[in-house]
Amino acid sequence: MALPVVAVVGRPNVGKSTLFNKLIGQRLSIVEDTPGVTRDRIYGKCEWLGHEFMLVDTGGIEPDSTDIILSQMRRQSELAITSADVIILVTDIRSGVTANDTEVAQMLMKSGKPVVLCVNKVDNVGELPVDFYEFYNLGLGEPFPVSSVHGHGTGDMLDEVIKYLPEATDDSEDDTVKVAVIGKPNVGKSSIINRICGEERVIVSDIAGTTRDATDTSIENEQGKFTFIDTAGIRRKSKVLEVVEKYSVLRAYMAVDRADVAVIVIDATVGFTEQDSKVAGYAHEKGKACVVAVNKWDAIEKDTGTMNEFRKDLEKDFSFMSYVPFVFISAKTGLRMDKLFETINYVAEQNSVRIPTGRLNEVLSYATSRVQPPSDKGRRLKIYYMTQAATKPPTFVFFVNRADLFHFSYQRYIENQIRETFGLDGTPVVFKIRERDKTDVK
Ligand code: GDP
Ligand code: GDP
Repeated sequence: MALPVVAVVGRPNVGKSTLFNKLIGQRLSIVEDTPGVTRDRIYGKCEWLGHEFMLVDTGGIEPDSTDIILSQMRRQSELAITSADVIILVTDIRSGVTANDTEVAQMLMKSGKPVVLCVNKVDNVGELPVDFYEFYNLGLGEPFPVSSVHGHGTGDMLDEVIKYLPEATDDSEDDTVKVAVIGKPNVGKSSIINRICGEERVIVSDIAGTTRDATDTSIENEQGKFTFIDTAGIRRKSKVLEVVEKYSVLRAYMAVDRADVAVIVIDATVGFTEQDSKVAGYAHEKGKACVVAVNKWDAIEKDTGTMNEFRKDLEKDFSFMSYVPFVFISAKTGLRMDKLFETINYVAEQNSVRIPTGRLNEVLSYATSRVQPPSDKGRRLKIYYMTQAATKPPTFVFFVNRADLFHFSYQRYIENQIRETFGLDGTPVVFKIRERDKTDVK
């Protein structure tokens, strides 16, 4: 599902992140706890009166910068204008309308994007301070008084926001495999996309639609139909946006959220880096099927053992997702692009596989008879039964006597047994442990 995007912009200290946290509420912790996500709270899912959207805090996107405030705000606003469907401009009742507010308001107005004006720190409900009316001068229509700390006024403001939201496009029904190509700068993402789009028949490219749809590119070849998500973001490198590293990270994460398969591109001439594991870690945590594409393979001096050695090293680097396949490609020469598509299809299938309960329990009873389940103070773990509860990613529920006895290492062992039998290459799996007679899932 492609969610509409709402961006929060404004000067430092007006309360953007406070507002953001208030609106995201509990859901934020999910985003925050995800390894690989930058500590800054930059985006989260938000819901108001049945409308879902992605809220982006552009303040969190700014790298530590010595820039003067105005240029920071310009940059934030550019990000918001290019990526959001609706923009919330946050101002501060305590400082009144500043020159920077006016400047940014004009910039936003010129863009033609819907803007909702939030006047923050209006903590006393009831009478509005006289200074409030000066915010009409920004020319953005009715200002909404809000107290982000207390949550007052956010409802009225969100009522206004959702008026401008485009319909969320439901892309779960179509039969194309949705692919996010992700990786550090310069690994060759745009070269890969350009090669793919240059060679194959492009069905839909840059069609008019909502902001985000227009950035997807669909192609068809003998291996099937594929939609590459946010290709415009990859292909057209805007100088302004490139500098904001976190912004490209954010876009990559949003692309992964919408994808069936994440193609994690690494540069063979550079090898594995910490940043690669961050990007990959996000796709893993989100339960997406994954492929690691080792690009620029043409530039490596090779003899017969080179690929195997390379692969062995990578298996160590990616040990946290030991299921992931590697494809050695070259966007420059086109080497193994067909193999890449084949692997994308394969991992997508594995990600949505359904395993019959009977077969799972056969493997389970074999596994538990070979290696006894752990015990503690005379109590031994009993796994009564397992079943697959969901796909994308394959999610298995275990019914046990004591959840605390089902240690990570034993879960790992069971996972390996399941993988050995059923494959599940290229996809994370999720285990849910449920104590019999109890309804809570851990
Ligand atoms: P940002 O830089 O725009 O993200 O601003 P922050 O969210 O970090 O807030 C800056 C300061 O304003 C913090 O000390 C907040 O506690 C305070 N603040 C934010 N919203 C409100 C509000 O609604 N009322 C009051 N009184 N203070 C607020
Ligand atoms: P992006 O930042 O990840 O989109 O990377 P680009 O596609 O812009 O590529 C970065 C640089 O690597 C460019 O100079 C490309 O020409 C080069 N490059 C990309 N793919 C290959 C490849 O397969 N082989 C070689 N030798 N160079 C490549």
